[in-house]
Amino acid sequence: MENSFWILTSQGASYPTLDKDIDTDCLIVGAGLTGLHTAYMLSDIGKKIVVLESDKVGYGSSGRNTGKITSSHGLIYDSISKKYGDEKSRLYYEANEDGLKLIKNIIKKNNIDCNFEELPNYIFTENDDDLNKIKEEYKTCQKLEIPYEYLNNIENFPLSVKGALKLDNQAQFNTKKYMDGLAKVISSKGIEIYENTPVVGLEKKNNEYIVKTKYNNEIKAKMVIIASSNIWHDELGLYFSKEQAYRSYLTVSKLNKPIAKGMFINVEQPSKTVRTYTDKDKNYLVCGGFDHKTGKCDDESNIFNDIVEFAKNNFKIGTLEYRWSTQDYITTDNIPYIGHINKEQENLYIATGFCKWGISTSAVAAIIFKDLITTGNSKYKELFNPSRTGSYLNLKYLKENTIMAYDYIKGKIKKGSTEFDIQKEEGKIIVIDGDKYGAYRDKDGKLYVVDITCTHLGCELKFNSFEKSWDCPCHGSRFNYDGSILNGPALKPLKLLGMGDNDIDPDLV
Ligand SMILES: Cc1cc2nc3c(=O)[nH]c(=O)nc-3n(C[C@H](O)[C@H](O)[C@H](O)COP(=O)(O)OP(=O)(O)OC[C@H]3O[C@@H](n4cnc5c(N)ncnc54)[C@H](O)[C@@H]3O)c2cc1C
Repeated sequence: MENSFWILTSQGASYPTLDKDIDTDCLIVGAGLTGLHTAYMLSDIGKKIVVLESDKVGYGSSGRNTGKITSSHGLIYDSISKKYGDEKSRLYYEANEDGLKLIKNIIKKNNIDCNFEELPNYIFTENDDDLNKIKEEYKTCQKLEIPYEYLNNIENFPLSVKGALKLDNQAQFNTKKYMDGLAKVISSKGIEIYENTPVVGLEKKNNEYIVKTKYNNEIKAKMVIIASSNIWHDELGLYFSKEQAYRSYLTVSKLNKPIAKGMFINVEQPSKTVRTYTDKDKNYLVCGGFDHKTGKCDDESNIFNDIVEFAKNNFKIGTLEYRWSTQDYITTDNIPYIGHINKEQENLYIATGFCKWGISTSAVAAIIFKDLITTGNSKYKELFNPSRTGSYLNLKYLKENTIMAYDYIKGKIKKGSTEFDIQKEEGKIIVIDGDKYGAYRDKDGKLYVVDITCTHLGCELKFNSFEKSWDCPCHGSRFNYDGSILNGPALKPLKLLGMGDNDIDPDLV
């Protein structure tokens, strides 16, 4: 099945679509882990809170991830220490341990059935060249008193591990079951959740924010928290240039021979992530990774062949049962942006750039938001400050943005085909009267032709052969073959042939 195992096997409640104008103290945009954790944390501060979700609760990256709740985010501590100093690096660990603790408490206090299991997390390499990186990380972590154990091998883990780090007392769960439970708890506390209600604009009027939905309703809010993963309202924070969208892939198969109890991730490329999942006496292997920048893969469908080959060569598995893909945003210093959108907007907050570790850090975001809103400060404020200069005044930032400019120009001069021979389930760039379009023929033979200029900032989109979508290599927006939005930051759909040129986003800044 070509969708998230967690989404297809869990059944959450449905919430209404907003069909009227409303006023609220606090509006949270996005009902993924960030939005739901934030709503939970703010539920006792005596304010009216509303959550708006463009799709359904947990249908973003949060319902499609690997479900590892950990402070062991690959090799992170040595790089933070080198860039920002040991104190900040240790603080990153403490923040994520707080996030993990919060999730554990929420599950316990509210009795959420989500297959939560406490397990160690392992970071390993099969490669001699990367062993030194693991050793450096270990040395730094010893100095920071982060309780990693160094191992030469991982027992009962059938890969040729050259070295590994183990962190105990981490956890994994069924991420969608958790969010379904959490949404129910939030709702029972009087917080309003609206599904199928995309936000399409935000402006400030007389110290209040007016937020518009796709169905022309307005929400007046004293404060807004953008928890939508992508930042569609920028306020000159230039977030589109400060983070890159990456897609990764996951598969689920029956596991026929047990492996070591734990969660596993490698340090080299391609990235490989592994965990097990047990439900009703059935054992599964969740395996994937193999990430790439959104819109930058020649043939997305092929990636699953590599994952299945890797899984079959190393584990005793049955046939592949589920496969899917999702994306997250990577900052140049690998630390998320959590806090005020800029220095001027006291009541407009963002949380983004979770670097594929947003389960614990979404809980950290909720802790920070509550502290900022109730006390004006947080011990984690500076570390995650979205306006920190260290995240973009560097060579990596310049390089990424040079690549974006190159992709923009490359897309514009790339030739399309003048032949319209398009097979079923094939997508192609075609030229009609000198203008380029994206054409896709569905499995019933119906042809869809859309303008493929991204409605976010005008880059040329690329066809994604696995998801039959048009993906932006510049800033990660994605559109279904019929033009509807799959991922922001774009707020406007693509136009079908004959409906005129796409509108490029006027609300960005
Ligand atoms: C393959 C993969 C595996 C991962 N595995 C792990 C893991 O094991 N552990 C870990 O810690 N992290 C993992 N991550 C990262 C983690 O999934 C994300 O960082 C996290 O889910 C982000 O949560 P979020 O709530 O900010 O975003 P999302 O879950 O994407 O939620 C944002 C919500 O906002 C909604 N939205 C967007 N735009 C609008 C709009 N305009 N109006 C209204 N609503 C809107 C979306 O529909 C969505 O539901 C993984 C990521 C990937 C790609």
